[in-house]
Amino acid sequence: MRLPLSCAALAVALLAACQPVRPAAPAATPVAATAEAAVPADDNLNAVLWVQRTAEYQAAATQTYRAAAALLDRALAEPHWDALVPSERDNAGHGLKPAVVLDIDETVLDNSPYQARLVRDGLEYSDPTWDAWVEERKAKPVPGVLEFARAASERGITMVYISNRAVHLKQATLDNLRAVGLPVADDSVFLGLGTVVEGCEQHGSEKDCRRRLAGRQYRVLMQFGDQLGDFVHIDANTFEGRQRLLEEYDDWFGERWWMLPNPTYGSWEPAAFGNSWKQSRETRRAAKRAALDVAP
Ligand SMILES: [Mg+2]
Repeated sequence: MRLPLSCAALAVALLAACQPVRPAAPAATPVAATAEAAVPADDNLNAVLWVQRTAEYQAAATQTYRAAAALLDRALAEPHWDALVPSERDNAGHGLKPAVVLDIDETVLDNSPYQARLVRDGLEYSDPTWDAWVEERKAKPVPGVLEFARAASERGITMVYISNRAVHLKQATLDNLRAVGLPVADDSVFLGLGTVVEGCEQHGSEKDCRRRLAGRQYRVLMQFGDQLGDFVHIDANTFEGRQRLLEEYDDWFGERWWMLPNPTYGSWEPAAFGNSWKQSRETRRAAKRAALDVAP
């Protein structure tokens, strides 16, 4: 799906998924005990509820796609308009067929029911539960994406999906995309995790090789994602490293790059605990609490 899990980390995640919900650790002081006890392990409750039930989420996603659609004609008209960073392009770009590159999860498909199940059951992400959800083919479209897709299709722009859904989930994913009405020109527009790209060595779940592959065939007018790594290679997954990238490409957001809101998960989360999923859930949670700005 989306988490850069190593095999070891995956084993830990799977183990955690098989264990009963662990109660919050007893706190040392009455004040801390109150705060800890009031927050069970499902920190995702507010985030998932926000995505599933609020007008605010729908408005944020819709306005993003609407604003992007309004720029399509300008992007098409400017022959050197390109949404790939120069280091990921092997050619001049202009003259190629136009495309937009989109991540899938929480960018075009809404998997919040899967997240809601994790909250309900007190579990964390695991590959088996994720694969089972994908096979259900029940994800709905993110608000606004169908209208954007129509605008792109009317202009002859191909939708290319670069996703960290593994390639063995390709058929279920294509079925789900088609079922909700998203354009799938042919099976080649799905570039899942595990796609082999000639002349490019892929690192983990980073998408740079697959972006490079898309660029060999298309001029990429825009990119859409819910995580920074959907747009550009992340060298250092720390809050500071991510901030540097944001500043470097600040002008591209709202023009060539479009970020969808996703407070429920993402590569931003492990940045808070040193990218070590091997740590216990409590340790990771403590690191996230420690990263909060409480304005001393
Ligand atoms: Mg995503």
